[in-house]
Amino acid sequence: MAELVAERGVVPGLATVLVGEDPASEIYVRRKGEACREVGMASFHHPLPADASADEVRALLARLNADPTVHGVLLQLPLPPPLDGDAMTATIDPAKDVDGLTPVNAGLLARGRPGLVPCTPAGVMELLRAAGTELTGARAVVLGRSSLVGRPLAALLLAADATVVHCHSRTRDLPAACREGEVLIAAAGRPRLVTRDMVAEGATVIDVGINRTDEGLVGDVDFEAVRERAGAITPVPGGVGPVTIAMLLANTVEAARAQTPPG
Ligand code: NAP
Repeated sequence: MAELVAERGVVPGLATVLVGEDPASEIYVRRKGEACREVGMASFHHPLPADASADEVRALLARLNADPTVHGVLLQLPLPPPLDGDAMTATIDPAKDVDGLTPVNAGLLARGRPGLVPCTPAGVMELLRAAGTELTGARAVVLGRSSLVGRPLAALLLAADATVVHCHSRTRDLPAACREGEVLIAAAGRPRLVTRDMVAEGATVIDVGINRTDEGLVGDVDFEAVRERAGAITPVPGGVGPVTIAMLLANTVEAARAQTPPG
């Protein structure tokens, strides 16, 4: 980023759009803005009321698409009904789509071609890389098939030459499928779904889940029980979440670089 600022005079800018007042979304958006400012990036926050119309959301996104000081546009999901999150996201300029959720970037990822990659799956890959986990030929089990996490993650693992087993709510004998994983990534949004008996000895376990329970925030993995069996494991909170934000900043810098070629 220093090179962008020094040589091209460009400060990467991220615009966040939050429709309504969902408390969890408010926290996520605030953290993203704080992270931008911490590293010297520009951040622009655009709150809209919960009863904003689809036309109002589209108009704001079009304005941000056209704003040269904004290199990344993030529409915080989910949107309050009846707004359609997919349809609104699709109006973001793919070059500014730092969440990697537009059909163009999702399509590029599905084809194994370069594009802006969704931040949470990118963060999971970064954690695996940092842990030195060998992925080539390894059996990687992904639990969850959402457009936000599970699907892009499976595509990234496949691109990294892992043998991907993709599980979801209709998978038969989920424990047996999970036990196959040398790498096991849980993104189901079900508190402590993954128990000790579902994890192979020495497996690398990444817990993407963030579940609000009476006992506070918990992941999709029964951390205390599984840690004794796993070779490596991420905690919740403090594991995938912070890396996700780092990936968002990296995507914004990458988008700014692509939008402002040198000279
Ligand atoms: P989602 O859209 O609700 O998708 C959940 C997926 O898990 C679905 O594919 C679902 O299967 C599957 N699933 C649900 N229950 C299951 C079960 N009992 N057995 C097997 N599969 C099951 O959720 P998401 O947006 O992907 O998020 C997943 C979790 O990650 C949530 O806890 C979310 O809060 C968290 N998250 C964390 C971050 C971060 O930065 N750390 C970012 C995004 C999301 P079907 O498709 O068959 O319904």
